[in-house]
Amino acid sequence: MSEGDCLFCKIAKQEIPAQVVYEDDQLVAIKDIDPVAPVHILLIPKSHRASLNDCSEEDRKLLGDIQLAAVAVAKKLNIAEEGYRLLCNCGPAGGQAVMHVHYHLLGGRDLGWPPG
Ligand code: 5GP
Ligand code: ZN
Repeated sequence: MSEGDCLFCKIAKQEIPAQVVYEDDQLVAIKDIDPVAPVHILLIPKSHRASLNDCSEEDRKLLGDIQLAAVAVAKKLNIAEEGYRLLCNCGPAGGQAVMHVHYHLLGGRDLGWPPG
């Protein structure tokens, strides 16, 4: 799939509407359209990479900044104290459906372990 056809590229450019809870120059954080927890946020980089497997050394800062943005969103949505989960599905066995790197921030209930 080309970047022009990519759903999350379009959402990041706000060509497709989404409920944005946080935005900076590198990423947007939106409410998941089909939440699996009371809080289910997607953190989506504005630049396209199909999966974590396509990230490289030059993405080191971006990947760290995504985690710090997730903490900021967790605090904003009042789940930081009780706890939450931040995860990235990668590839078919990892459960990745949308081939544009994104992280799920899940909270608002007890999350089971192991997942899946
Ligand atoms: P994945 O399985 O790729 O890790 O997760 C993709 C996530 O994107 C799913 O949780 C799915 O509900 C969410 N999603 C898919 N399409 C849309 C959309 O158009 N808008 C929003 N807000 N979320 C979407
Ligand atoms: Zn994309």
